[in-house]
This record gives sequence, C-alpha cells and structure tokens, in this order.
Amino acid sequence: MSISVTGVSKYFGKQKALNEVSFEIPEGQIVGFLGPNGAGKSTMMKIITGYLPASEGNVKVANLAVDGNNLKVREKVGYLPEHNPLYQDMYISEYLNFVAEIYHIPRQKERIEEIIDITGLSPERHKKIGALSKGYRQRVGLAQALMPDPEVLILDEPTTGLDPNQIIDVRNLITKLGREKTILLSTHIMQEVQAICERVIIINNGVLVADEAASELEKGFQHNLSRVFVEYDRKIAPEKIIALQGVQNVSPKKNGFLVSVQGDIDIRPSLFQLAVENNLVLLTMTVERESLEDLFHTLTGKAASR
Ligand code: ADP
Ligand code: MG
Repeated sequence: MSISVTGVSKYFGKQKALNEVSFEIPEGQIVGFLGPNGAGKSTMMKIITGYLPASEGNVKVANLAVDGNNLKVREKVGYLPEHNPLYQDMYISEYLNFVAEIYHIPRQKERIEEIIDITGLSPERHKKIGALSKGYRQRVGLAQALMPDPEVLILDEPTTGLDPNQIIDVRNLITKLGREKTILLSTHIMQEVQAICERVIIINNGVLVADEAASELEKGFQHNLSRVFVEYDRKIAPEKIIALQGVQNVSPKKNGFLVSVQGDIDIRPSLFQLAVENNLVLLTMTVERESLEDLFHTLTGKAASR
C-alpha cells in the first residue's frame, strides 16, 4: 500500500477534528479527498505527511510508519500544503535549488531542469516567485513537492483560488503526474473529483462517510433517484404528476416541473401519456442527471444529522 491510515483520530483541545478514520490507497491511484470546509481534510493530510502527530491511530506511507521515521518519509511524500508558502523574493530556479539542497538531490541541475519541464514552468522561469500568477505559483508548489521524486503526492486543494483556465492546466498536470504516482488530493469541489479521480473518499465532521470508485458512487446514486424536467404548453395541476407511479416529488421550475423519481422507473412514457390524455403539447422533457454533487450533499447531510 502507498498510504495506509488506521483508526486515526485527532483532537484539538476538546474538539475532535478526526474521528477514527481508516483507509488504504494502493500504488498508482488518484484519490479525491472530499469534504466541506472544516471537515478535517487538511488535518488528515498534515498527519499523513508527518507535519502533525495523530492523537490516536497509525499512518504508513510507502510502508514506512509516519512517526519516528520522518526523514525517510519526507523523501517518499511530496506535499503541496493548502496555503502554499513560497519565498516571494526568490527566482524560480533559485527556490528549486534551495529545495534540492534540503533533499540532498543528486544531479541537482539535471533534476531541476527535468522538474521545470514537467511542471511547465519554462516560460516563467526567469521571474521571481512574487511576480507569478497564482496558477504558476501552484506549479512551483508542485515542482517543490516533486523534487525528491516521491512515490506519493499529497495535494491540499491544489486548484482553489485559480481561474478556470489555470484550473484546467493544473488538473491536466495532476492527471499526467498520476500516471506514475499515487495521489491524494483534497477538494471541496465535486467536479474536480469527476474530472480527475478514480476513487473518492468523503469526510464530514472528521468522520469518513464514503469511500468508493468515482464511477460506482455516481452509478449507485443514479439508480436510486432520477429527475426529469418536463414542460407542457399549458398549465397542469402538479397533483396529476404526483399521482404517476414512482414519482416522489414534483417542484415547479421555470415554466414546467422538476419530477423526482425513486427507483429504476423511467417516468418519461407516463409524462408523455399524461400530455396525450390532457390534450397538452409536450414542449420539453429532459433527464437531469444526479451528480456526485447531489450525492455529496446527501451523504454529508446524513452524517451531520447522526
Ligand atoms: P478542512 O481542511 O477540511 O477544511 P481542517 O482539517 O482544516 O478542515 O479543520 C478541521 C477542524 O479542525 C476545523 O474545525 C478546524 O477549525 C480545526 N482545526 C484545524 N487545525 C487546528 C489547529 N491547529 N488548532 C485548533 N483547531 C484546528
Ligand atoms: Mg483544508
């Protein structure tokens, strides 16, 4: 296993920021670590990287125990912290030199060139870090994390604060890195997970609420609930739609209704039939796919009310 977290709890005074969290990540997976603000994502990541001790439980990275063994662990784990601290006054290559010194990197010059190339920093390489855009600063953070060629990358909200183009660039870079490394990346954005992760671990209030393949999570949810938007040319009483078999809920939306259906029923033929019976013309009928976003709210809502 690249990462193995067993029964980890973390207290800050009386507050329990993590509550018996366990998961394992095999080599080469890209895993999304998802949860609302304050869920405990950054705390978990600091514990995995050895920057913060757990109150209870064990963490192993690349089969090394994270406490005691810390120096070895640092070579195995690249870490991009949430508030990526960089030396604003240094030039990119100067900073990377500095990082290479810390890690005692062999063939320093070659390695720095390699990393500048991988992270796409070449066009900006002669600038001071303070003069870079947020997107390029994130690349410098990634370059720093990659310097010792670690087996595992821990990226804490790598795209937060970036503009849409920068988000796409950084996501592409992460996907590329994921071909060779195990990556755990935190985010509070569901689409991020859908875009780059094969697996999702969701925490809320320090409790793990889901751990599944991204595709499974989405599939499982779609089977439970689907929604269809329907619009007829004239008004119809929502009671007539509610009366259809399988309909859970009907809510007005724009000039039509959003119809929620439980189970595997395809409601579209009934909605069409309803139009025929009531002499209406069907103007629009679209299936609204449930997204991981909805699932996220369902899961974290459930956990919150436990
Ligand atoms: P996330 O990264 O998911 O937004 P965090 O791990 O930063 O969440 O925080 C989880 C909880 O732990 C929050 O309630 C936060 O206020 C608390 N917390 C985090 N770090 C500290 C700290 N150093 N001292 C006290 N409380 C903290
Ligand atoms: Mg955080």
